[in-house]
Amino acid sequence: MRVVLLGPPGVGKGTQGRKLAHGCGWALISTGEMLREAVARGTPLGVEAKKTMEAGMLVSDPIMIEMVKERSAEPDAGLGFVLDGFPRTVTQANALDSMLQSREQRLDVVVGLEAPRDKLARRLSARRECPLCKRAYNLVSAPPRDGLRCDDHPGELLVQREDDTEHTVRRRLEVYDRQTAPLLSYYQGQGRLREVSAEGTMDDVYRTLAQALGCRV
Ligand code: AMP
Repeated sequence: MRVVLLGPPGVGKGTQGRKLAHGCGWALISTGEMLREAVARGTPLGVEAKKTMEAGMLVSDPIMIEMVKERSAEPDAGLGFVLDGFPRTVTQANALDSMLQSREQRLDVVVGLEAPRDKLARRLSARRECPLCKRAYNLVSAPPRDGLRCDDHPGELLVQREDDTEHTVRRRLEVYDRQTAPLLSYYQGQGRLREVSAEGTMDDVYRTLAQALGCRV
């Protein structure tokens, strides 16, 4: 199964994508995570993308399209994948359609995750992640056991993403409205959109999603 998770920053695409990929045996393709890795490793792509990401803007379509083309052709994506953070523009969505068509594959479902704006901003400012395994925490609603370190990697202090600052969050929400939200009607037009509320707890939302996609809860 090939699934796209669509929704504004902070709605839980990363967390749910990780759980779904694990629970359903699909590859997780998170373009934001791939870019953050490139930044951390200081690759030419990382150096180029760093400023754009810190400003809350989008990395160029050709770069992102190539990245997903390569990653989705890897063997672990053969049984299916969850795309988190891609497509983010109509150009990327068109490229994804053509890419899958040329492989005689198709996108099965696009999940539109939604939550009220004030909740998103609050979630983003309390969001932390393990620098090692990328497990997501929320200091208010889903804190780690000792309040500071990853439950699975007790040596790792949780970190805040560089682009989760208040100013950048506002910009990212604007960019979402302008460039990514139009994809909801794009996929609705294709009959692939399934809207899911992301307002409950992480586990509630996951249960709804997994059931909707027919995989293990
Ligand atoms: P995310 O982790 O999905 O919130 O992505 C973090 C940042 O990476 C975004 O704010 C963009 O700067 C960049 N990014 C991730 N995915 C894409 C994409 N598909 N197109 C353009 N930029 C992206």
